Amino acid sequence: MSQSTITIVKNTDKKQKPQSKDIAFGRTFTDHMFVMDYESDKGWHEPRIVPYEPLTLDPAAMIFHYGQTVFEGMKAYRTEDDRVLLFRPDKNLERLNLSSDRLSIPPVDEEKVMEYLVELIRLEQDWVPSFEGTSLYVRPFIIGTEPSLAVAPSKTYKLMVILSPVGPYFKGGIKPVQINVEEQYTRAVKGGTGMAKTAGNYSSAYQAQAKAYKEGLADVLWLDGIEKRYIEEVGSMNIFFKIDGEVVTPALSGSILKGITRMSIIELLQKWGIPVSERRISIEELYEAYEEGKLEEAFGTGTAAVISPVGELNWLGRKMTINDGEIGSLSQKLYDTITGIQRGSVEDAYGWTVEV
Ligand SMILES: *Cc1c(COP(=O)(O)O)cnc(C)c1O
Repeated sequence: MSQSTITIVKNTDKKQKPQSKDIAFGRTFTDHMFVMDYESDKGWHEPRIVPYEPLTLDPAAMIFHYGQTVFEGMKAYRTEDDRVLLFRPDKNLERLNLSSDRLSIPPVDEEKVMEYLVELIRLEQDWVPSFEGTSLYVRPFIIGTEPSLAVAPSKTYKLMVILSPVGPYFKGGIKPVQINVEEQYTRAVKGGTGMAKTAGNYSSAYQAQAKAYKEGLADVLWLDGIEKRYIEEVGSMNIFFKIDGEVVTPALSGSILKGITRMSIIELLQKWGIPVSERRISIEELYEAYEEGKLEEAFGTGTAAVISPVGELNWLGRKMTINDGEIGSLSQKLYDTITGIQRGSVEDAYGWTVEV
């Protein structure tokens, strides 16, 4: 039913590519984008690569009113020998469908979308920057487009993929961040949409973010929405702690995003024979471990930073300084291994990378 031959309309008006590694996140876009439409009777159809340009949508389009939308985020990396690699993109497409299911959006054919994605990145490969630490950020997203104010799933959708060259996450080397443990606001609750990459989860976090920034802190550590005790995740990253030799990360409870970096770190630790557990962990337990001198390392994980070490946690005015505010040796080893695999300088023993 769904047609799969992709049409390509080339952009004749090429933009200038970034000339240095200082590329602001998400502000520059490439010359082309991918678009595909969904209608109930046709399914997903008309896959196409077209010049990057603004959209025309009806003001009643459902995306503007009830937020029926999902997104993904991954990166394409240039290796030293000039190949372009994606890191576990199949997991991103699997998660796109998982998010879509939660938002009542029809699923896509993951294998076909993978082909389209590769085709788009191949066409735009000169946009994958080669400066150290840079990459091409890949942002697939789906929006409900039906012009209707009815509170019901849209009957039409657009899947689009846009590409954006990005600079290194850490300018001038990895720097541990200070994080505020959020007591007032909630990001997500079990049964809600926390496990989906959907717009509302992010705009509803801005107030807590602003509070942290005002205190000079970089981000927010979220606690569970019911008891305000159990640790969930940090900003748009999953969180790990090394406590007395064991690595602990909150179990996927339904309100936490299933990070692909998180998954990869768990797999690496298991291979290395380092104890790792996915379980509930309360902020009280963490503080106790800290007071006993057992909280050895803490780090956030996600596509953007890969590993973002936490140097300090602020919980109701109580400060926990972790590893003297320096990156821990395990955090560093995980960072070096994953970024090495992504950039082709460490052997990919797990078959995680896909060459474009
Ligand atoms: C995207 C995201 C993550 C990290 O997922 P990765 O697949 O590792 O990039 C973690 N938490 C939230 C809320 C996110 O949106």
